[in-house]
Amino acid sequence: MRLLSFAFLPFFFLPLDPADIAPVSKALPSTVDLAPVARVATPEPEPVPGHRAEPSGCTAATVPLAESVSTGTPTRGRLTHGKFLEESELVRHVDASDCNFWGTDELVGAIERVATAVAEEHPGHRLTVGELSKRRGGDIRGHGSHENGRDVDFGFYFLDEAGLPYEPGRLIRVRRDKTARADGEVLTFDVARNWKLVEALLTDEEADVNIILVDARIRRWLLAHARSIGVADELYRHASRVLLRPRRGDHPHRNHFHVRVYCPESDERCRDFNGLWDWVERARAERAARAEAAVTRPAA
Ligand SMILES: [Zn+2]
Repeated sequence: MRLLSFAFLPFFFLPLDPADIAPVSKALPSTVDLAPVARVATPEPEPVPGHRAEPSGCTAATVPLAESVSTGTPTRGRLTHGKFLEESELVRHVDASDCNFWGTDELVGAIERVATAVAEEHPGHRLTVGELSKRRGGDIRGHGSHENGRDVDFGFYFLDEAGLPYEPGRLIRVRRDKTARADGEVLTFDVARNWKLVEALLTDEEADVNIILVDARIRRWLLAHARSIGVADELYRHASRVLLRPRRGDHPHRNHFHVRVYCPESDERCRDFNGLWDWVERARAERAARAEAAVTRPAA
């Protein structure tokens, strides 16, 4: 997911300023599909018996002309050539009033892959995505971080009273008894799907997840579920370290996961708040070794 080729684009689609990206349109969906070049393969759409939310109306008309660059920290940073996370059969937007769904190439790619992984095991429910960053990063209303394209909020997966997937139109708070209320419905926190999302984030070879913030009780439900289905000890250890409880006084995170990925290795002026988890360090070393082997392998 590096430099994009524009040879196939008629020249009149190219923005005048190469540093620019076309605006997001809420009212008028783009009629030209210039969505991200490297789309993940999407499984056949499943018939959806549960409740589906309306489209957010947020879409980006063009793709950035260069790879994304994350600068600074999540609380004081910016984003250049951000990539827009589009809604799809696997992903939906909430908190969409400002269409802040811009992230690094790496984060947007990871979101699309984990949405696919959850849907492959538990079809019928899209991944609920709250805000990422603004188009060029920086201060963003309602968040202390989310400034340089590396933070994303994920709404939880819910089931309705008939046990069918239910997509609320916003991030909704889960109660102590695992229920939640939306649109007059009583919903239940879908532990299996929500755990699968955590597992997908931690087992994706390139996501490089730094933290997953969530309420302490929800964290316990997820880890207990992981134990009950017999996940590998290593995965359990990673989950128990990455799933963090918010500090006292911070947002309690009873209505969403806050996920942050590490600085992309290529973004030299990007700063992490803490060091790499040992398994992320290993994953990066393995990727580097694979890349080197691919370069040095003699041509057939
Ligand atoms: Zn957040």
